[in-house]
Amino acid sequence: MLSDFNGKRVIVMGLGLFGGGVAITRFLARHGARVTVADLKDESKLAVSLEKLRGVDVRFVLGRHVDSDFTDADLVIVNPAVPRDSPYLELAREHGVPFETETNLFFKLCPAPIIGVTGSNGKTTTTTLIGEMLRGPGLRVYVGGNIGAPLIERVEEMTAEDIVVLELSSFQLEDLRAIERSPHISVVTNISPNHLDRHKTMENYIAAKRAIVDYQRDGDIFVVNARDDRLASWAEAARARVLRFSSQGKVHKGTYLAGSTLRFRIGYDKGKICDRDDILLPGIFNVENFLAASAAALVLGVRTETIRRVARTFRGVTHRLELFHEEGGVRYYNDSIATTPESTIAALDALEGPIILIAGGYDKKVPLSALARKIADRCKAVVLVGTIGPQIAAELRRCGNADALRVFEEGTDFEAAVRRATSLAEPGGCVLLSPATASYDMFANFEERGNTFKRLVNPAAAGRPPST
Ligand code: ADP
Repeated sequence: MLSDFNGKRVIVMGLGLFGGGVAITRFLARHGARVTVADLKDESKLAVSLEKLRGVDVRFVLGRHVDSDFTDADLVIVNPAVPRDSPYLELAREHGVPFETETNLFFKLCPAPIIGVTGSNGKTTTTTLIGEMLRGPGLRVYVGGNIGAPLIERVEEMTAEDIVVLELSSFQLEDLRAIERSPHISVVTNISPNHLDRHKTMENYIAAKRAIVDYQRDGDIFVVNARDDRLASWAEAARARVLRFSSQGKVHKGTYLAGSTLRFRIGYDKGKICDRDDILLPGIFNVENFLAASAAALVLGVRTETIRRVARTFRGVTHRLELFHEEGGVRYYNDSIATTPESTIAALDALEGPIILIAGGYDKKVPLSALARKIADRCKAVVLVGTIGPQIAAELRRCGNADALRVFEEGTDFEAAVRRATSLAEPGGCVLLSPATASYDMFANFEERGNTFKRLVNPAAAGRPPST
């Protein structure tokens, strides 16, 4: 199968900046394909990806597409972000050139069982948790996919004894339908109505995600949120064995929260997984993510002791409400990935105790009133930074419930903002970086912002390897 690429003319359509295009290009070149990388973005926009391809024997056509690249190819590899109605894809189709995607190729070539995780929220956390629970002596675990780690380049080293945990986006699932494949264990965290409201083609969005169960076979497993009616119909139609998870009451088969205890009933086995308080991750939604991950792990034979250890040690995916430091009774969270008001609102809802918030950054011209109300409701103090800082301050002055809130503005002096926030913290409370906006005015990206925050709070924590 891998030898199939030898001498073939393959066009990688969409190099992108998220790693998938780079990985598939390197993989194809290694297996003897004559690769053309085509992207409508130009060289300067793609610099980061191009740097990673330095020394790889490929041809680049950037800033434009050329018809003959598509008509004369033996295969087109389509990036998930490429619109499916692209005239160039149509051209390739007319000339009988077959399509492939990195994810589909991975499914075809991977000898190991695959656990696939999708949902509107919680994909990355649940995927990472499953990886942590499975890791241990005697099992090689690969975690990747939409999470930002393409696995195609590692498929050659995988065996049937290994296990793969893949985060799958709706785009990737839509493509998977073409090869009629679903994961061996499928996990759907939730389908959020909020998310759907914003989707123009709601039915398409749901139909795409459903590919995660449609081609499962007897003996496969479907782990699904018990709360969601739409998902209930998926479960009824599934060929796989269904395990449900619920934070709101007992389930017949699966995992659930009963009072302050997480419990399971799987096959003829049942018992306690851990206490809710064992889970370091904040918020009830993380209890759900933990229940989903536990169901997948338990069905694969992971012991409850191992799951409990993960509960007590896993501090979150880097930059996502990550508990990276505790000192003097104060918890420090890095939620630098929160670049919208909604995600900062979710973080404020998840945490307990008095919150000192650091927020602000580049002004994306989004409404701020709901965020201001939530800050006033949940925080003891807020330290504002970036070009948007004054607008959040003005919005806070407008909302009726902000009398007790202390508001500080530190402009673009991030270091002063962190110093201010730590000086305000008190035992039992927390300091949270959850900017609600993009970082461009002060940092290269959200990672740099989060790492700077961690380093300023505690240089040792910043040096720790990321959890993903
Ligand atoms: P995704 O990969 O689906 O974007 P993440 O695990 O990265 O999800 O979590 C991103 C944010 O989404 C979290 O910080 C939290 O605000 C929210 N979130 C996570 N899990 C859930 C869930 N199960 N239900 C609702 N919201 C969630």
